[in-house]
Amino acid sequence: MHKVTQYRDRCIGCNACVEIAPDRWRISKKDGRCTLVGGKPTKGIYHVDIHEFELEENKRAAASCPVNIIKVDGK
Ligand code: SF4
Repeated sequence: MHKVTQYRDRCIGCNACVEIAPDRWRISKKDGRCTLVGGKPTKGIYHVDIHEFELEENKRAAASCPVNIIKVDGK
């Protein structure tokens, strides 16, 4: 298992992560920010455990985030 973290408050809704990893990322119709699918919040920071097969695309999503708010395994 690997851990994905999102500092959701700082999301600008650019859609980059959704295009790369659509099974994990979705733009919310409510506030236009991206939601980490299956994520649980702790003080506004979302976390989810992902499987090995999801790792590469989520690393690419993290690398593509222009405001650098997606972390995979803390990086
Ligand atoms: S790439 Fe970053 S800023 Fe863009 S929608 Fe995803 S989390 Fe938000």
